[in-house]
Amino acid sequence: MSREEEMYDLLKNTQNDHALLNIAEKVLQNKRISFDDGVLLYEKATIGFAGTLANYIRKKLHGDITYFNRNFHIEPTNLCVFTCKFCSYSRLIKQQDEGWVMTKDDMLNIVRSYENKPVTEVHIVGGVLPQLKLDFFIDVLKEIKKIKPQLHIKGFTAVELDYMFRKAKVNIKEGLMNLKEAGLDSLPGGGAEIFDEEIREKICADKCNSAEWLLIHKTAHELGMHSNATMLYGHIENYIHRVDHMERLRKLQDETGGFNTFIPLKFRNKDNEMSYVPEGSVIEDLRNYAIARIYLDNFPHIKAYWPMISRNVAQLSLNFGVNDIDGTIDDSTKIYSMAGAEEQSPAMSTKEICELISAAGKHPVERDTLYNVVQDYKDYDFSNEPVSGFLNLPVIN
Ligand code: SF4
Repeated sequence: MSREEEMYDLLKNTQNDHALLNIAEKVLQNKRISFDDGVLLYEKATIGFAGTLANYIRKKLHGDITYFNRNFHIEPTNLCVFTCKFCSYSRLIKQQDEGWVMTKDDMLNIVRSYENKPVTEVHIVGGVLPQLKLDFFIDVLKEIKKIKPQLHIKGFTAVELDYMFRKAKVNIKEGLMNLKEAGLDSLPGGGAEIFDEEIREKICADKCNSAEWLLIHKTAHELGMHSNATMLYGHIENYIHRVDHMERLRKLQDETGGFNTFIPLKFRNKDNEMSYVPEGSVIEDLRNYAIARIYLDNFPHIKAYWPMISRNVAQLSLNFGVNDIDGTIDDSTKIYSMAGAEEQSPAMSTKEICELISAAGKHPVERDTLYNVVQDYKDYDFSNEPVSGFLNLPVIN
């Protein structure tokens, strides 16, 4: 019996539904599933069925390897001109006393504090403000590269970029080329929320729209930059909206191949204008990871962002299609802690992150932003390492 036949039997025992088994057959024969198949999975697949199928794909693509990286975040401001209803992070200009705006030196001092630590990536995202101009960030990027030339700079959501480029009166290509020249290496996946125009109008009407988000990523890919994609789920959207979101990403990925990772982001309801919307269950989170893995057949990686979903759920997700759990982060983000996530000071040492992955029966591998292997931790002996979060590996400057 082939592995695929064994899998089919296993799935049949899990959920003997004709339509679902047709979807399973397509996946096992390496065929793409349709939009309607995606909706059907959301409507009918149990966590066992979706998880088994997603795990099959994950194993085929990555075996037991689970990636993480050593990174830190810079959040230049939590003030924002936009008014996304789900956002617990932004302090409007009128609440300035609860907010921060970093100077160039503040940001560079953060980078300097990592000068002798073997981090490979800085992740820069934050609110949107008129004074945080394109020229300002071009200057910041150049200075960061002077301090740590090999540090990969993954920065600015399409929402921040769209605003910055409009203010500077440059088109997307010109703006991205300027930032790339200054040192920007890739784009994070934030700001995508949910692409359906009606839902977007209800939850984040005033920021860049779906077509603009996709165009910015497309242009970045055409300029040779990679990016990630997110989806905010579990609020007022329905399953069709989720599949529509992934369909638009899958189409763009067919064209450009520039996305590395898909990161589903769970709606959290603390201290925002949508606090009346209850949060989804862990079962739904795991089903969502699994269906994303099945649907996005051209995305190499699916990531569980542990500061948002908690360490335990991130660990569980590794058997539901997820093969990446982001990075050590070093307590340098406030975005999800302010939205009520369990992780109020997110930081994990390399040892902790490797233990978390190994305890799930997976194989921890440190990657850089573009998924080049930095260090394989399969049989790594941590006994001689310092207790601090960072190991004494060669420093990348
Ligand atoms: S989600 Fe982003 S763009 Fe929207 S209000 Fe919050 S910080 Fe601003």
